[in-house]
Amino acid sequence: MNTHEAERIAAAFHQLRPDWPVKQLLTLLTDTRMVDRPRRDVVVCLGWVACESGTSSPYRVLESGPWWRAANVQGDSVQLHRGPWCGICGRAQDHHATADHEFELAPDRKRAPEAQAAIVEDLRQRKEPTRTPDTPQQPPAGAGRARVEATEKETA
Ligand SMILES: [Zn+2]
Repeated sequence: MNTHEAERIAAAFHQLRPDWPVKQLLTLLTDTRMVDRPRRDVVVCLGWVACESGTSSPYRVLESGPWWRAANVQGDSVQLHRGPWCGICGRAQDHHATADHEFELAPDRKRAPEAQAAIVEDLRQRKEPTRTPDTPQQPPAGAGRARVEATEKETA
């Protein structure tokens, strides 16, 4: 896979997964564990990973998953990494030493327990059956008329 192919594949998968930045995909595709693979295998594996609902990072492709069998290549040669994954570059924490920034958990893993509880409570509230809105308070009879009379006096 040459640089031009890697750029096109990164752009394509960014269309499929807008939450995967092109730069992150390019970093993955030019990784030594990916760059020497045939373009077809890379696209098959990334496509599989991109369409899995539980996948938050394209770096999951480096794990030994069924996508390598789908591409008909041996996943054994792939160095395995387990999360947590970096929210900036998507690399696994145990593979983050070479990065030019500090490892940072993805935003969805950073929520404090209270914030998570608040989200759960909010969703629970939304699940409640809708109730009839409160009856609006009727203005006292004649209130509007008094205002009109006052305006008439001012303009007279
Ligand atoms: Zn990172």
